[in-house]
Amino acid sequence: GQTLDASWAIDWLRRSAAVIAENRMMLIELDRKIGDGDHGENMDRGFQAILLKLDEGEPETPGAVFKLAAMTLMSKVGGAAGPLYGTAFLRAATAAGEQRGLDSELLAAALAAARDGVVARGKAAVGEKTMIDAWTPAVDAAAAAAARGAGPAELLDAAASAARAGAVSTEPLIARKGRASYLGERAIGHRDPGAESSALLLRAAAEAAAA
Ligand code: ADP
Ligand code: MG
Ligand code: MG
Repeated sequence: GQTLDASWAIDWLRRSAAVIAENRMMLIELDRKIGDGDHGENMDRGFQAILLKLDEGEPETPGAVFKLAAMTLMSKVGGAAGPLYGTAFLRAATAAGEQRGLDSELLAAALAAARDGVVARGKAAVGEKTMIDAWTPAVDAAAAAAARGAGPAELLDAAASAARAGAVSTEPLIARKGRASYLGERAIGHRDPGAESSALLLRAAAEAAAA
């Protein structure tokens, strides 16, 4: 079947950097409501650093691209999100291995591995108002797409749509993990910033696959 290669992964990261930069203030505003207001700045710093790394030399496999993203996000993003996204990309890199092309099965497995990494690190379950509320529906949609024989672009489109709905679903929730958990009921009515950034990143992945 169809596969996605390193040029897709690089395009994903470049599109991610652009969409995070465009939405920097929006992510800051979301984090100001239920956190400390730095999520947009943290993510923008990390993805701008990824762009600089890519300009130094482009990796030749999707796994190596994910590894570059993991290392850079871990060292540059900080806060809660840096280690969580770093772990996500590192687990995806391990799942992708040395493969030059990722088919739907491997893509679904890499997304699941990324989500499992976030859970291993942050211990959040669905419904606790974190990025997991975007990731888990995305992983489920990707698995369903792979099972029905969808190609990688269709799989990522389904994952991105599920992540978007998942991010919106955090609005009525009370936070059980991270800084927002200190707010109790005052977190109700606000979207989780990490769920929003996760939805933006997965949409960028789908757009890179459709390009
Ligand atoms: P910080 O809270 O340290 O300032 P950020 O603002 O960059 O870090 O990231 C906050 C986001 O991290 C939250 O919106 C949430 O999605 C995510 N997050 C925080 N704690 C956890 C956790 N334990 N598991 C999963 N995601 C988490
Ligand atoms: Mg913050
Ligand atoms: Mg912070």
